Amino acid sequence: MAYDPSNIFARILRGEIPCQRLYEDHWALAFRDIHPQAPHHVLVIPKGAYVSFADFAAEASAEEIVGFTRAVGLVAGQLGLEAGGYRLLANHGPDSHQEVPHYHVHILGGRPLGPLVLRPAPAA
Ligand code: AMP
Repeated sequence: MAYDPSNIFARILRGEIPCQRLYEDHWALAFRDIHPQAPHHVLVIPKGAYVSFADFAAEASAEEIVGFTRAVGLVAGQLGLEAGGYRLLANHGPDSHQEVPHYHVHILGGRPLGPLVLRPAPAA
């Protein structure tokens, strides 16, 4: 799938639409999810143009992967989530219900999240 530069996170990166920014460095930008599913629900996105985790894992340079991964860890730490714990989630493709085609990691935390529960499969 080709990268669509008009996606909403690309527009956030270009400063065309606002976000609740928490952290930014050379590799990553972190901001609060607009529809939070937990007391802390933060999205961390790479600065580079990658559609999803699969694209990032295959195409990003080692420096980008390390820089991005460190940024995710830093943000979770800055949010004070290390002791209590947090969940990382990245959706790839239609079965995952990925909505925004720019790779992003969700950081979820701030309360006990319980086990990961998915919706049941629709009846055949
Ligand atoms: P995903 O389903 O993994 O693609 O998640 C996309 C996430 O982006 C959802 O949790 C949305 O609530 C969130 N989102 C969409 N638009 C914005 C926005 N403008 N600012 C912050 N979060 C957004």
